[in-house]
Amino acid sequence: MRYQEIINDICHGLYQDPPKGEVASYIPELAKVSPDHFGVAMVTQTGDYFASGDAEQRFSIQSIAKVLSLTLAYQHLDGKLWKRVGVEPSGTPFNSLVQLEREEGIPRNPFINAGAIVVCDVLIGLLKDPVNDLLKFVRSLSGNETINYNPVVAASERSEGYRNLALTNFIRSFGNIHNDLDDVLDLYFNLCSLEMNCQELAETFFFLANDGVTRAGKRILTRSQTKRINAIMLTCGFYDEAGDFAYRVGLPGKSGVGGGIVAIHPEEYVIAVWSPPLNPKGNSARGVAFLEAFTTLTASSIF
Ligand code: GLN
Repeated sequence: MRYQEIINDICHGLYQDPPKGEVASYIPELAKVSPDHFGVAMVTQTGDYFASGDAEQRFSIQSIAKVLSLTLAYQHLDGKLWKRVGVEPSGTPFNSLVQLEREEGIPRNPFINAGAIVVCDVLIGLLKDPVNDLLKFVRSLSGNETINYNPVVAASERSEGYRNLALTNFIRSFGNIHNDLDDVLDLYFNLCSLEMNCQELAETFFFLANDGVTRAGKRILTRSQTKRINAIMLTCGFYDEAGDFAYRVGLPGKSGVGGGIVAIHPEEYVIAVWSPPLNPKGNSARGVAFLEAFTTLTASSIF
């Protein structure tokens, strides 16, 4: 497959004529990022690497990190985790409160904010030093010790984090948060502040394309658990745009409001894209357009 040539061609077209979008501004630090960045990196299961543009510049991975916190909690609890959080698409925006009242504080899935906050609460119950232990886990996925939280971004989000505070209090009122609210939110804001570049993202998520085993040969999840995380990414990875992403791109994936998207083709490749301007559903406008063209031109979706 001529992956590099295809990536170059699509990027060229999307530099000339980028789809419209807005850089996230509700987290003040994210509003400072240039809308012009555009990077792509891809690693195949056999270890070939392809990249274009700003593939080596780090950015705030935001909600993409929710896959990593989920993976760690799932590794410890397996199916018992689903007593605290569901696996159904929400059909609502990432920061919505509406379903929680009717569903008594059990978030629909681990990728909406409510679900990721519950997963952080679960991790606090499992880990001795949650903030550091989670970082160690993330580093172990790629073998990259330089990956880190960005404390300025975490503080910036905390300063305007009224909705996440409301979600945490509301879930607590139903008894589905067990730990101190500040500790839970501290872990959540740190998680969202993780920074990586496209190349590092592709390396970190490699295990999901490789039946649960990292590039260095370390088993993270069983084959069956890996299938399930990919299934949740396919059905819930893009909030109320998950159906449209599956329809247009046809891969499991996860987005973040920093403009990143990771998509997985199980047993084939991982591809990461970064372009900060978001569409109205909070997903990278150029990232989605790139991936749609990529799976079309390479004829490589899971369907
Ligand atoms: N940190 C962001 C928030 O809680 C994450 C949202 C996202 O990336 N979709 O609002």
